Amino acid sequence: MINYKFLDLKKINSRDSSLMKTIFSDVLNSGWYLLGEQLEKFESDYANYCKVRYCIGVSSGLDALVLILRALSLPPGSEILVPANTFVASFLAVNFAGYKPVPVEPDEFTMNISPQNIKKQITPETKAVIAVHLYGQPCDMQPIKQIAKAQDLYIIEDAAQAHGAIYQGRKAGSLGDIAAFSFYPGKNLGALGDGGAILTNNGSLAENIRKLRNYGSDSKYYHSVKGINSRLDEIQAGFLRTKLKHLDEDNAIRRNLAEVYLNEIKHQNIKLPLAKTSSQSSWHLFVIRSSDRDGLKEYLAKNGVETMIHYPIPPHKQHCYNELNEISLPITEKLSKEVLSLPISPVMSEDDAKNISRIINQWKC
Ligand SMILES: *Cc1c(COP(=O)(O)O)cnc(C)c1O
Repeated sequence: MINYKFLDLKKINSRDSSLMKTIFSDVLNSGWYLLGEQLEKFESDYANYCKVRYCIGVSSGLDALVLILRALSLPPGSEILVPANTFVASFLAVNFAGYKPVPVEPDEFTMNISPQNIKKQITPETKAVIAVHLYGQPCDMQPIKQIAKAQDLYIIEDAAQAHGAIYQGRKAGSLGDIAAFSFYPGKNLGALGDGGAILTNNGSLAENIRKLRNYGSDSKYYHSVKGINSRLDEIQAGFLRTKLKHLDEDNAIRRNLAEVYLNEIKHQNIKLPLAKTSSQSSWHLFVIRSSDRDGLKEYLAKNGVETMIHYPIPPHKQHCYNELNEISLPITEKLSKEVLSLPISPVMSEDDAKNISRIINQWKC
């Protein structure tokens, strides 16, 4: 029996049930379902929220990354530095745009891309680095910016897990040259389907991406570039706009739950995530580590606590990346065997986190 679900999406979204029903009927009755008023309003609200000039809604987080990389118009075969410890989308986007993903080992303790290791992978072909704010914890941006400036690299934020996260007083999505967000239902700001967005202060990139997401079209049936179809639906934009209004409150609940876990979990074979003082995680995931991760996962399942693994197989070990299978990335490989994500969400109570902590402390390994 599951007493503590990993993530209760039905409960999360039912909080907005009546507002979302109003949006549904507004969109239904408008007779206009793509690239309309709802999207414009959401783009403007989300740009303001992140304090960035331009926001362009797209179909998914993966598309956001692909469109960013395509809009940069780098030479074919350019090398893009990606964290080895990430969700596979960060890699796939690079391939779809026609470039080469070059994995970079993380810092073992933050689990994010390591600035020191970025330096080691730079070649004359390197044109950009993708900074993934993994689990919602912002990357160490200051040194990354210094390296990028010295080496003339673009910084692309993959902020798909970091809605509302803050680094040195600034929101994730405003920390590099351009940023990708995902509104996959399970994210901190999630749609009732797929969605994504691109944020940037660069007006010409923004204009280019606005065309690319809509068949490369400036006006109907005139195509200046070879674009794709990647639009954020009116209905999803409306839902997201409603949910954005309480994103900060939701993140505060997550932060409080993370604090409970950080204070309450005390076990010799469990390492807790770092909570940095220079930044505020969105706590998309609360990821602990253990040398007997599989034993812990099984023990928790038997005691009614549902957990997940982010991620069990790193991208370079996936079947689809056979060209990278032989390289050795020991930190990433070790993390993939040790990480375990505990339940955390805005519909979970402090007592839930306390009870889960108590169950964890009683684990005999
Ligand atoms: C979810 C996610 C994506 C992809 O987003 P989709 O909307 O599912 O395409 C990309 N990068 C990271 C780090 C993610 O967590």
